[in-house]
Amino acid sequence: MSTATRTVTHTSTGTLAPLLPGTVALVGGGPGEAGLMTVAGRAAVEQADVLLVDHLAPSEALGWAPSDAEIVDVGKLPREAFTPQESINALLVQHARAGRRVVRLKGGDGFVFGRGMEELEACAQAEVSVRVIPGVTSSVAVPALGGIPVTHRGLVQGFSVISGHVPPGHPDSTLDFEALARSGTTLVVLMGVATLSAITAALVANGLDPATPAAVVARGGHPDQQVVGATVADIAARAAHVEPPAITVIGHVAAFAATDTPVLEEVI
Ligand code: SAH
Repeated sequence: MSTATRTVTHTSTGTLAPLLPGTVALVGGGPGEAGLMTVAGRAAVEQADVLLVDHLAPSEALGWAPSDAEIVDVGKLPREAFTPQESINALLVQHARAGRRVVRLKGGDGFVFGRGMEELEACAQAEVSVRVIPGVTSSVAVPALGGIPVTHRGLVQGFSVISGHVPPGHPDSTLDFEALARSGTTLVVLMGVATLSAITAALVANGLDPATPAAVVARGGHPDQQVVGATVADIAARAAHVEPPAITVIGHVAAFAATDTPVLEEVI
């Protein structure tokens, strides 16, 4: 990572100013429902000549693009074909150099497990101007849509957002599960459906009370949203049927989950 590239123009203010030809807007699209996109994000989509769109970006928002805009699906699906990040970076630069207004539409916020900085740096290296339009991150919005506040006065004074993509104990994992288990914060796990049992086992092994409330919110904000409530000891089993995208919340606030089933009542 080079710090020199950071000097190239990018802006996160004036987000409603016209998008100039030859520039890229990195737009956070929110957790999936078009109503949760920002006003600035919508304005950028409305001006786009080309949109590079992720799998978790709000598909309804594409209806706001000009009718002649080119829409490129670079979505990444787990275990399925996807456009490699290097190709996405190259496409952003290529389209901008061709004088287009480029919108890179992602799910949530582009800088929360969104590889937004890699794209910004690729543009910066190519001297392409970038506008950063933050989005409503699913790490806060999806718990909220499932009835769970990530903090609650008198109950919990912070939250930690982690990726479950790399399982605990894996050589590539940089997470300290002992510290997480003792942190006293709400734990919000993204990309953790496949690794949920390993994550909850690591937390309990490191001293987290097995009776700590936990909830999984899947497809937050979509008509088929699912909420499963349990304890950290049995959430992996209770939510075994859940498909990604889903978020797991672990901590006292998870007891507020608006569950589809009466499971939580047994737990409290
Ligand atoms: N940049 C995104 C996160 C990308 S990582 C953001 O800020 O929200 C992708 C993960 O986000 C998914 O595996 C899932 O854990 C979570 N996620 C995104 N949208 C979601 C949704 N509508 N419902 C549940 N989980 C979601």
